[in-house]
Amino acid sequence: MSGLHIELEKCVGCGLCVKSCDASALAVENKKAAVNNACVMCGMCVNSCPFGAISIRKEEKSQVNLASYKNIWVFAEQNDGKLTDVAYELTGKGRELAEQRGCGLHVLLAGENAEKNAKKLIAAGADKVIIYTDSRACSNSEEIYTEYLSAAITKYCPEIVLFGATKFGRSLAPRVAARVQTGLTADCTELSIDSESQLLRQTRPAFGGNLMATIICPDNRPQMATVRPGIMPRPHSDKLRTGKIIHEPPAGKISAKTELLKKIKTPPSESIADAEKLIVVGRGIGNQKNLELVKEAARLIGAEIGCSRPLVDMGWCEYRHQVGQTGCTVAPKLLISVGVSGAVQHQAGIARAENIIAINHDPEAPIFAAAHCAVVGDAVEILKELITALKSN
Ligand code: FAD
Repeated sequence: MSGLHIELEKCVGCGLCVKSCDASALAVENKKAAVNNACVMCGMCVNSCPFGAISIRKEEKSQVNLASYKNIWVFAEQNDGKLTDVAYELTGKGRELAEQRGCGLHVLLAGENAEKNAKKLIAAGADKVIIYTDSRACSNSEEIYTEYLSAAITKYCPEIVLFGATKFGRSLAPRVAARVQTGLTADCTELSIDSESQLLRQTRPAFGGNLMATIICPDNRPQMATVRPGIMPRPHSDKLRTGKIIHEPPAGKISAKTELLKKIKTPPSESIADAEKLIVVGRGIGNQKNLELVKEAARLIGAEIGCSRPLVDMGWCEYRHQVGQTGCTVAPKLLISVGVSGAVQHQAGIARAENIIAINHDPEAPIFAAAHCAVVGDAVEILKELITALKSN
């Protein structure tokens, strides 16, 4: 059988494995190590045991019956009873993949307002919504959701499972992948079905964003991926769509290491991800003082301010303003790019902007390849002229 295996003859009960375990899955009982169901099979204990008493036994590849895995699943994350945007985005993408694959799209949901939100997900493209009717689900605990999802995957055998690459999704998806012993491609920016092999093509930036890698998972199931929020378009809502809502009973006893005692609301940090107008400033602005010109221009046109990564690194702007691969993805109607070179990592965050006006004094700057309107000239001079023109109107 697959799982963590302890050879009792070799185990001396030293407890080193217990200390190495981040999941509180090991204990020493009767002078021998024992594993409980919190094990995520991360392998830390295997490396920690100087006696070679612990190993992970995996199912042989031939035992994975690929044909028995069917349908596409989306994990719909919600916060305080509200569906996240990426839950809708994944439902839209999942619908498209399900059409290509000729299978159903099932969405998993738990927490407050689940019934109401299930209807929204059906309108967005789900064929079936599986709701976990368990009060513990409201806490967004990775441990609890790992139990739900790994049990559900074992029971229903989905072919593909998608998560949002949010803080929660990035923590949950690898735990589930380890538990069900499959691969996971993190932070995908594109997904499609290969027309010949019918495998999920999972594309993501690699080597610091300098090239895009397409990854497949041919031998294990489900094929699992996390997808960056804001990359896939949000689907239209069709209130006439019909689908099934099914209630999954709570998983049995879950030994969670953490317990949510209470939630403390912090003031929402303003995100630029939903800004309709943005001025994105780069190192070509010259110095920190010149940012005042950017703020003035932004105030006059009612825009918010974004920036390239070096401005955050230099402490000129807060991280929440950073646009790009390691910052946020934006989709404004108007984006004015000021003194930004347009590196691939930056362009990863602006691809969905509807209109880009780029100002740069180098006519060969890569940003111009992404721009709809190119202004070649000095950023400070052009900003000053823009402010004068806006004030005189
Ligand atoms: P520069 O590359 O220095 O470009 C400045 C530009 O301003 C030049 O094109 C120049 O011609 C122009 N300029 C100079 N003076 C003037 C002037 N007076 N008037 C007009 N134009 C002028 N970057 C991001 O932005 N976001 C990310 O999320 C991000 N993630 C990354 C992740 C990884 C793994 C790595 C390796 C890098 C990442 N980067 C990211 C960094 C990225 O590679 C670039 O280094 C960065 O975007 C460059 O910022 P910039 O264009 O402001 O600066």
